[in-house]
Amino acid sequence: MPKKPPKNYDLDEDQYTRSFNKADDSPTSWICRDADCAYENEAMEDEECEACGEARYEELVDPYAGFKCGLVVSVEDLADKLKVCSVNIGKAEVKIVTNAANVAEGSRVVVACVGAIVQGDALKKKTVGGRASEGMLADAPMLGWTGGGAGAAAIVPEACAPGDRPPEKRPRMDGK
Ligand SMILES: [Zn+2]
Repeated sequence: MPKKPPKNYDLDEDQYTRSFNKADDSPTSWICRDADCAYENEAMEDEECEACGEARYEELVDPYAGFKCGLVVSVEDLADKLKVCSVNIGKAEVKIVTNAANVAEGSRVVVACVGAIVQGDALKKKTVGGRASEGMLADAPMLGWTGGGAGAAAIVPEACAPGDRPPEKRPRMDGK
């Protein structure tokens, strides 16, 4: 049974009742977010479009998926300022070829592993300077950190264990 319109309500009672009766304004359909499909799905509990199978919600992609803190366990110099770093990233050790000048044995870095999204593309294993590189060392811009130059490896403090998710801000390196 419709409630009474509030005082001073503009509409006449008939109009008011009509609009009021559909006052339960929770949606009864959802439109497929694929612009070519735009199918109106009436099953509110469906997570996928009935017509095209598109997921109802955009998957939130973790920008740090595939980025891991790592500890450089050894460095082998190659020609042309390149070096191969063996990096412990928690459950694995990977070989990364880099020209970042600021890494040495014992450096704590962030590895963009194979599959991490860098500049819109998933990183692939590739050969650099004749050696296989399983990803790359992340620099500050890749991590969205302010400060810290492009091309220099992002360095993290000791509190960041191999395999950890990288910090979202450039960490202080003085332990405070
Ligand atoms: Zn659809």
